[in-house]
Amino acid sequence: MTSTHAELAKRHRAVLPEWLALYYDEPIDVERGEGRHVWDAEGNRYLDFFGGILTTMTAHALPEVTAAVSEQAGKVLHTSTLYLNRPMVELAERVAELSGIDDPRVFLTTSGTEANDTALLLATGYRGSNQVLALRNSYHGRSFSSMAVTGNRTWSPTSLSPVQTAYVHGSRRRGTPLAGLPDEEFTAACVADLEDVLGQLHGNVACLIAEPIQGVGGFAVPPDGLFAQFKEVLDRHGILWISDEVQTGWGRTGEHFWGWQAHDAAGPPDIVTFAKGIGNGLSIGGVIARAEVMNSVRANSISTFGGSPITAAGALANLDHLIANDLQGNAARIGAVLRGELDGAVGRIPAVAEVRGKGLMIGIELVHTDGTPAPELAGEVLEEARRGGVLIGKGGLDGNVLRIAPPLSLTEQEAREGARILLAALEKAGQR
Ligand code: PMP
Repeated sequence: MTSTHAELAKRHRAVLPEWLALYYDEPIDVERGEGRHVWDAEGNRYLDFFGGILTTMTAHALPEVTAAVSEQAGKVLHTSTLYLNRPMVELAERVAELSGIDDPRVFLTTSGTEANDTALLLATGYRGSNQVLALRNSYHGRSFSSMAVTGNRTWSPTSLSPVQTAYVHGSRRRGTPLAGLPDEEFTAACVADLEDVLGQLHGNVACLIAEPIQGVGGFAVPPDGLFAQFKEVLDRHGILWISDEVQTGWGRTGEHFWGWQAHDAAGPPDIVTFAKGIGNGLSIGGVIARAEVMNSVRANSISTFGGSPITAAGALANLDHLIANDLQGNAARIGAVLRGELDGAVGRIPAVAEVRGKGLMIGIELVHTDGTPAPELAGEVLEEARRGGVLIGKGGLDGNVLRIAPPLSLTEQEAREGARILLAALEKAGQR
């Protein structure tokens, strides 16, 4: 008899696009979740170390979110932002309060892509230019303009584009000439590259859009303070800084609430974008900008579902839970436990070139004996970890980085159990 999963995978492949990535040789249908665990339709339980690409921020099926969503669904499903919407106003107030930006305004969207699109709309309009800067190896979404600022070509088919993008160095991608430099030299080289690129462009440049730690790019962490140095250069030219916090926001890095705060010296970004985790699975994102920048748009513009009563009520409950339970602090503590378990793999398991990241955002880079990227090995470890009962992700320009980003409520016991399974998977796959 055909299994439920195999049959669904066949139907999936028959009707959905070929370019829609699907994990695992035998894809799984995740049906239910609770806490840090999920169950598939065949009854297998997994410890979720990827949280649906960092969407499950607090915990699966968090009762407060479920209650807020059901209550709101029982009242009014959706009207439109043409009417007052209490959950949207309350969520925007909360986000503004947490933003660290002066005189902030918040616009709510349905996704990270829409948030970045909006940020580009704001920056290009405000600056009167469609020339933008982005980092090499970046990922910012899948729309026409967010793909146009996505440096990672695996995710960005080259195409005609509404913005002109120039790419600068700013991510410590292993194997590149800059990656091995000490922090200060790496930072100086990136700043020199920024100056160099600016020198080659003519006319106004609108903005630099960047992830504080590249997510899809493989959790490559730049030196703290790099963006403060970038900002000094940008400020001289009046160029705006957009920090894409879709993966790094809400305390994920443990040490800070926002990723940009590791670079705080020169002040906050002009625009921050967010999505994923704030909704704990609900499709909501947004943009925060200084009033002057946000209000520079001179046309009506609404997002029909952005900040709908249901998603806003759920996001607010999720955010309240995150803060009341200090899940940022938990990310720092449990992230350190996980690193304690995983760091030893470097040197012990030959394929593990590097374990890196911050808080509960941990990447493991896999290489062949000659040091070249080992994407097939990453695929095997993913399979092996699943067989052991742990779901992880992968990424990196070469697809050879394992990505670990569990819900921020991960317990110490779960961290140790997951690490044990993952290390066993690494050893087993590495021996083949
Ligand atoms: N920015 C970053 C840094 C992301 O990681 C992603 C999603 N992986 C996006 C933007 C796009 O978000 P969404 O898929 O919600 O449109």
